[in-house]
Order: sequence, then C-alpha cells, then structure tokens
Amino acid sequence: MTLPIYLDYHATTPVDPRVVEAMLPYFTREFGNAASRTHAFGWAARDAVEEARARVADLVGAAANEIVFTSGATESDNLAVRGIAGASRDGGSHIITCVSEHTAVLDTCRAVERQGTRVTYLPVRPDGRVDPDAVAAAIGPDTVLVSVMAANNEIGVLQPVAEIGAVARARGVLFHTDAAQAVGHVRLDVEDVQADLVSMSAHKMYGPKGVGALYVRRRRPRVPLVEQMSGGGHERGMRSGTLNVPAIVGFGAAAALCAAEMSAEAERVRALRDRLHRQLCDRLDDVRVNGSMTHRLPNNLNLSFARLEGESLLMAIDDIAVSSGAACTSASRDPSHVLMALGLGEDLARASIRFGLGRWTTDEDIDYVVQKVASVVGRLREMSPLRTAGVDA
Ligand SMILES: *Cc1c(COP(=O)(O)O)cnc(C)c1O
Repeated sequence: MTLPIYLDYHATTPVDPRVVEAMLPYFTREFGNAASRTHAFGWAARDAVEEARARVADLVGAAANEIVFTSGATESDNLAVRGIAGASRDGGSHIITCVSEHTAVLDTCRAVERQGTRVTYLPVRPDGRVDPDAVAAAIGPDTVLVSVMAANNEIGVLQPVAEIGAVARARGVLFHTDAAQAVGHVRLDVEDVQADLVSMSAHKMYGPKGVGALYVRRRRPRVPLVEQMSGGGHERGMRSGTLNVPAIVGFGAAAALCAAEMSAEAERVRALRDRLHRQLCDRLDDVRVNGSMTHRLPNNLNLSFARLEGESLLMAIDDIAVSSGAACTSASRDPSHVLMALGLGEDLARASIRFGLGRWTTDEDIDYVVQKVASVVGRLREMSPLRTAGVDA
C-alpha cells in the first residue's frame, strides 16, 4: 500500500496502462488528420477513430453513427441542452431538470433561461431520487427536453432513468441523461432507457481527460440538434474541429475494457465499498449515509459525521484523497447543493466525505481508511464545540 490513498474516482480516474499503450502510436507514427481524405495518413487516423466510435457505441447499445465526440461531458451537456433549446420553435420552450444535477447541466440551464427558455428544477426525494410522476406532472405543451442524470457524481445515486425515459417518450419529449458517472461502471443501454441524448466522459472510466461523447439518437425520433461549434463540419456537422485522434483512440480502448470487465469490477468494488461502510458504522456513532443505498453506484459511499466541524475533517484526513463534494465546486466554501437538496443542514453537509473507489483500490487501502477516518472523527468529536446538542459553533 502506498500513501496517499486515492479515493476520489468520481473526480477523475487514472488512465489504464493498456489504454495508454493503445494511444501511443497516434501521437507519432499515426499522426494524421482524420479529415484528410487524400492520403494514407488521414485514412489510418479515420479508421482508428471509427473503431473507437464503434467501441463507445457498443458500450451503450448505440449505433456508431449516433456517437458525436466532444471534449468531455461538460461540452456534451452544453451541446445537448443548448442544442435542443436552440432547435425549439420561437415563442419560448420549456426544459425539465432536477436540483441535484452536475453544474454542467445546471449552469447551462441557467444560461438558456436568460435566453428565454423556461426551466423547471424538480426536487429530489430524501433518498436523492427524482419522482418519475413529478416529471410527468411537469411536462407541458411547450416542453422540449427532460434532462436527468443517470448517476450522481457526489452521492452515487442512480436515477430511475428507464421510468423517466418512458414518461418522456410517451409524451413526445426528448430525454437527455448525463451518464458521465454511470457509463463504464454500471450497465446503461440507450434503448432500455429510451434516451435520446447521453453525455459521457472518458476520464471517468479510465480513459484520458479532454475527450467525451454525446450520443444523439438518429431514428425514432431523429434528434434535431443545433451545433454549438461551427466550422469544418466534423462529426456530421454537430461538432466541428479537428478530432483529437489519440484521445479518441484511448476513449475507445477504455470503453472496450469496461465492456469486458465492468461486471466483475463492479462486484469487487461493491464488496470493498460495503466493507468500508460496515466497519465505519461499527466504530462510530451518528454516521449518516447520504442517498439511497440500494439505487447506487457500486463504487460510491457518501457519509456525514455529526458532532464535528467539517472544516477540520478533510484537513485531518491528510493522506487519503477524498472530497466533500464535487471537485469542480469544492473550491468554494458553500456546502454541496446535492447534500442540501437531500435536506441536510449546513453543518452536516460540510461534515461529509465522498468516497469514490475504483479499479486500483485494494483491501489494504480500505483497512487503512477505516482506521484513519475512525480515529480522526473520534478525535475531532472530542474537540468539537458541536459535541453538545444545542450548542452552535
Ligand atoms: C465529471 C462530470 C462531468 C464533467 O465531465 P468532464 O468530462 O470533466 O467535462 C459532467 N457530469 C458529471 C455527472 C460528471 O461526473
């Protein structure tokens, strides 16, 4: 075991060495531009991109020509939300999303709101899940898109995307799901879910950073997406710009590995996660699990520790890489919007840890983490002004 221990796999994952191996030739020998139609350098690059496209498509049950490569899930979310808001008829359209979405969806929804699109932000239940009936009730004649994530990046909660997809399809409304945390970790099939748009990110599934994809349904219905990046007409006009061939090849290799190894890996990681949970609860009182334990990613655990100051918690756990919220928002001192949406108070939301396990998490890692977290929490509770009920720090 080596310190520090990395338990922040929701923020990013290391690139699998097998993926790096697959990428290397495309930086040097096979450096062609995939859009060069007149010579072998271009053809080799195009062939590599098309193989990667087929692999990514396979992982989610799509056809290869429904995969649009982007720079990551943030761009995919932007393309989906802005691309549909922009495609809808004048006179105002309506989008339905939920309060616990990633900021890439929430902030994009706020942006289209300023341009005249109406947005409904559905609440989540105390277990973190959206009620599909609430989605149905929110759909009106001008609703063009429902956007609900597949798996939450903080609490790992799996949304009832198949039910939501069915509701949207029945009402003729497009369904987008941000599946950056789900794809490669749990089974997600675009037909089962009846999804029309799906955001993915390579670096959340042992591929490189800076590459992702948007699944865009081509038939029944054909999704009318307005491009957000204009130029040479790459990616069937939906996303112009020279393709990042090595990164795309890496994404494809990562997708193939996930397809082959996902179920065994999920089982292994789930057992480690459950042991971490059980042993922490054996050693500590007043530990709260945030979000549904049944509808949850196998690699996620999110716990709140009552009666201590959250500020000190992460600082004291100095040799374990974890976070209290999403990596992109933890720079701010605001408590997590996801935990607040579950109904936690600010103190408890701040005294929370997101554990994200992954491909290289070991038994020894978990032993160490249990030991460390239990002793840190015990010590901080001794010192905390919050330890007596009713006393506010
Ligand atoms: C990481 C993440 C994103 C952003 O993905 P990038 O590829 O880093 O842009 C979006 N949504 C969710 C749910 C994520 O976990």
